This record gives sequence, C-alpha cells and structure tokens, in this order.
Amino acid sequence: MLVVMRHDATEQEVRGVVQVIEELGYQARPMPGRQRTSIGVVGNDGRVDASRLAALAGVVEIIHVTKPYKQVSREWRPESTVVRLPGGLAVGGDEIVVMAGPCSVETERQIIEAAIAVRDAGATVLRAGAFKPRSSPYAFQGLGVSGLALLKRAREESGLLIVTEAMDPEGVDLVAEVADIIQIGARNMQNYSLLKKAGRAAKPVLLKRGLSATIQELLLAAEYLLAEGNQNVILCERGVRGFDPSTRNLFDVSAVPVVHTLSHLPIIADPSHGTGRRQMVLPMARAAVAAGADGLLVEVHPHPEHALSDGAQSLDPVEFRQLMHDTRLIAEAIGRSITEPTGVRT
Ligand code: PEP
Ligand code: MN
Repeated sequence: MLVVMRHDATEQEVRGVVQVIEELGYQARPMPGRQRTSIGVVGNDGRVDASRLAALAGVVEIIHVTKPYKQVSREWRPESTVVRLPGGLAVGGDEIVVMAGPCSVETERQIIEAAIAVRDAGATVLRAGAFKPRSSPYAFQGLGVSGLALLKRAREESGLLIVTEAMDPEGVDLVAEVADIIQIGARNMQNYSLLKKAGRAAKPVLLKRGLSATIQELLLAAEYLLAEGNQNVILCERGVRGFDPSTRNLFDVSAVPVVHTLSHLPIIADPSHGTGRRQMVLPMARAAVAAGADGLLVEVHPHPEHALSDGAQSLDPVEFRQLMHDTRLIAEAIGRSITEPTGVRT
C-alpha cells in the first residue's frame, strides 16, 4: 500500500503518517518525489485499515498496489530509478552504460589487457567473474578470492568500475569489498538466502534473469533485494531457455519494454549469454539499445580463442569497437547517448 501526500504536505504531516503506520505495526518508507512525497507501507498483508490513513492531515490518496511485487512496481514509484555509481556514472538515466570484459578473470595479464582494451573502446565498467557458476563441475570454476585481487588491480590500472558475481551469501561481503556492483547470476536468481544477503549489502546489485524465469519471477526476485533495503538494483535480460539450438538462449528483447512498463528499475541487456555466438552479439546489442535498454553487458576477451570460459560468445577488442560505434549511433537516434569514460573513477 502507498500513502500519497499532497504536494504541499508539510514535513510534520509526513512524520504524522509515518507514526501512525508504525503504530499499526508496519514499516513506513517515505519516498520524496519530484511532485510529492509518497509513503510506502511495508509488511502489510492486505488487511491494513486504509481509512485510518486516508483521514490523516496531508494525505491525498491511498493506492493499493495490485501486483505481487510491491516496491519494485511502477505503481509504488512512478519515477524511474537511477542507480548512481562512483565517479558520476548512473544507470537508468538518459545515458547507456556499457559493461564489458571477459567471462572469467584468468590471469593478471589477461584481465589488465582486457580492461585497457574495453576502456579504450569506450566501456565504463569492467565485467569478469572470479567465482564462476559452471554447468559442469569439471569446467574452470574461476580463480575465486585471488581473482578478486586481480580485479582490484585492474580497477586501479584502468579506472573502470567493477561488476563481478557473488555465488553464495558468504561471497557477498568478499565481492562487495572489491566490486562497485554485485552480480547475481541467472542460476542464482531464485537463491533467496543470497538475495537477502545482497539486499543488505551497501553496493548496487545487478540481477540477471533466471534460465527460464518469467518477468514476474524476475521482478519478485528483485523485490527480495528492495525488501531488505537495497534500492540500487539493476535488472539484466540475458536470454531464456528456448527450443531452438541455433542460439544458446532465446534473447528476449521485449523484456526491456515490459520491465520498463511494470517497474521503475533500470534494465540492461546481455547479448553475449543471450545468443552464445560471437557473430550475433553485435546485431542483438544494437537491438537492445534500440529497445530502450539502460546498458549492455558484453563479453570481450583479448584472445577469445584462448578463453577459459565462453570464448565462442566473446568479442575480440576490434569487434567490440565496432559494437561501441554502432550502439552510439543507435543511442543518438533515440535521444540517448552512451556514457563515455572520464578517466580514473574513485
Ligand atoms: C556471466 O555473466 O558470465 C554469467 C555466468 O551469466 P549468466 O548468469 O547470465 O549465465
Ligand atoms: Mn560468461
């Protein structure tokens, strides 16, 4: 439930509403907006006495959120969320943020070479996994903690921000020490203890759509993060399991406008896992930007033929330059732009 205050409501009136919500046994989440303040009522099971709140001074309207996800919905917050990152980077505004790098951190040389290559082409966030969720237990599992140390080095060398995956609740704190954004992978989208832990972290979370998750399930997973207090959530479309082996996944470009309609959270797109094939990444990246994606997550390896994971879908630096060139043009055509690197971010 949402209590909408009059545009000229005083701070005292807002405090009065918060107090009554708390007296009723719920949590109050005041959300100052451009026009007016709304106060979210959290923890209600539908039986809260709305008439008591409607009669309070300064209240203009009570909105019952009809969706099963609440804080994630546009009903709850009509204005789009902009997730702010260090160095003035923002996801969910007019600018499109490109996050690029190898699937896995492999060696110091590889990650630094990758970081410099993607930065010089115009990426602003370095992506690479230290903890890797692999379908086979015999496949490369990532360097773990030493991979995080290499990401820290790459951050210092390149000035790029870092997004990397936490695979379990214990990993969240480790990742949060190094990363600017904590990634939750597709296989873990419904790992509720991981979501709750990441929801209490002080870093933004990138939540990838599950292997065969509906958009409603994705939004409910995001609700876990917001319910724990983390408002800085970026969603990611990365394809869902299809029936046709021509592509690794069925890249659901339509998820972008669907999410923008249902939720105020930003959504980025990952055409690398979405297609699984290098030659399809560029056209699908173009399509995602045209569809309104707030960012891209792209796998780029200095030598894809030697990659320890996901080489078949990794671009080399030259192909990535082409992707940056094309997506800049498309962004411009729809009145947006790609965020440009501005040197070392702190
Ligand atoms: C990744 O980003 O490297 C990854 C493992 O992706 P997903 O969780 O979407 O499979
Ligand atoms: Mn990968």
